[in-house]
Amino acid sequence: MNISEKNCESGSNIPDNKNIDDNFKAFSVKRLDNEKLFYNVIKKYGGHVSSDNFSNTVNFHKNPIAHIKFAPFEKSGFVSQCFSTRLGGTSSGMYESMNLTFNDVGQYKADARENVLENFRRMSSVINIPVERMVYSKQTHTTNVLAVSDSHAGMGLVRGRNFDNIDGFVSNTPGLCLVTSFADCIPVVMTDERHRCIASVHAGWRGTAGNIAANAILAMRKSFGSSPKDVTAFIGPGICADCYEVGEDVAEQFKRVYNEEEYRSILLPEITEKSRTNASESVKFLLNLSMANYFNLLRSGVLPENIYVSDICTCCNSRILFSHRASRGKRGILCNFISINCE
Ligand SMILES: [Zn+2]
Repeated sequence: MNISEKNCESGSNIPDNKNIDDNFKAFSVKRLDNEKLFYNVIKKYGGHVSSDNFSNTVNFHKNPIAHIKFAPFEKSGFVSQCFSTRLGGTSSGMYESMNLTFNDVGQYKADARENVLENFRRMSSVINIPVERMVYSKQTHTTNVLAVSDSHAGMGLVRGRNFDNIDGFVSNTPGLCLVTSFADCIPVVMTDERHRCIASVHAGWRGTAGNIAANAILAMRKSFGSSPKDVTAFIGPGICADCYEVGEDVAEQFKRVYNEEEYRSILLPEITEKSRTNASESVKFLLNLSMANYFNLLRSGVLPENIYVSDICTCCNSRILFSHRASRGKRGILCNFISINCE
């Protein structure tokens, strides 16, 4: 069975793990042309960035459970990192199969807790950290970042949380795995090997316009003495601009916080057939959330050569990744896992 031949709408016909090839190409995965999308940015910082920052930045692996690794962290001795897919889990229906949320999804009833826990155990075998050593965020589209340590181990998974409304974590605790969740929103994952700390944040449009990435960089500095010039940042798999139509209300929020040049790169006015023929039809925009986060990182002092951008869109690849837009809200959750290696 070749996944590219199958019509895998939400919750149907997800191949089981044995059919996964090591090579992403076997899935007909659509990669974004980031070098074109980021052309003006690359031109501006051309002396410092290379195609490695933008192209083939995520790698797909089959064993022991399907997962993605972000290129700059893959060969790191400092951290272990992985990102889940829809594949290799035990859940069914709209959650098929690697669903990693315990919560209701919109109007839909939550997945069975034992399925989600089993899925977490399977992902724990990828990163080789028990679920008892993971801490799971409580994401509500805020810009709040929490520094976590040993006392948080297991929270949100095998025991209750003592925090709420937390969309990002920072930590310097080896062996503690930060877990953040996504289904089109943008992961921003950071490491500072020199000061031995990490961050993982969830940036949807609210978190991006509110610059949660800057909050994480500030939290790393305050808590662990981190310096932005020592930070490596990965803007992970989320929705691409072509898939992300927004209205003027959202566009307005970005206009408020980005300068003219940035704004023009982040939001492209979309001329629809309707708006062409009907002057009263409201204008729509295509929002490039990855680009907005790129500017957020630059503003915080992260060096362009240390910023990497995923070339995989969740919505373009909704057969293997959960996408809120592609499934019209009928979907499970993907998670990023990152931990400082124990010495
Ligand atoms: Zn897309």
